[in-house]
This record gives sequence, C-alpha cells and structure tokens, in this order.
Amino acid sequence: MYYCQVMPTVRIGPYKVPIKFVAKVQVDGEPAFGSYCDDPHTIEIERSLKERPEQLCNIVLHECLEAIDAIYAVGLQHSQIEVLSTALTETLRGSKYLRERLAS
Ligand SMILES: [Zn+2]
Repeated sequence: MYYCQVMPTVRIGPYKVPIKFVAKVQVDGEPAFGSYCDDPHTIEIERSLKERPEQLCNIVLHECLEAIDAIYAVGLQHSQIEVLSTALTETLRGSKYLRERLAS
C-alpha cells in the first residue's frame, strides 16, 4: 500500500523547519529526546514520543525554542529553554482560549 506522509514543519522566522522522527537522537554523543540542527535547519525527535503526545509537545517546543534562540540570536541559557518549554506547554494545555485562536 502506498501513502504519502507529509513531514511536519514549524515556521521560525523566515524558515520552514522540518521535524524528522527518528529512532534515536543524540546530542553531543549522549542520548536525547530531541535535537535542533542549525545547518540545515532541522529538528529531530525520537520516534517513540509519538506515543506520549504531551511529552512530545514539550520536546518539540523545547527544540523550537532552541531554534528561535539560534535564528534570532537571543542568547538564552539552556536552563532557561528548559523552563520556558515546560511553562509554554503548561500554558497552552490550560488555555483553551489560546488554542482555539491559534488553530483557526
Ligand atoms: Zn535542549
């Protein structure tokens, strides 16, 4: 059976950043759930996270913040990215108002 699965992307600044689901992700030789590469702009996410949507959203937001930090040269510390991704996940989960408007 043939079917075409469109690769998900996120738009960050002028870039359409593909999200690739892979079996294993490594950052600096260590296992990780996700990574962001600046050249070419790509986010890799461990495939098994598809089974855990909330953790998946947290990790994708984390990698988006890594990309935003790099693309806009913000200068965030990694600990700040960790707090912001968790806080954004919680904010979006608890904010039907925002989710509905973002989805329209
Ligand atoms: Zn990170």
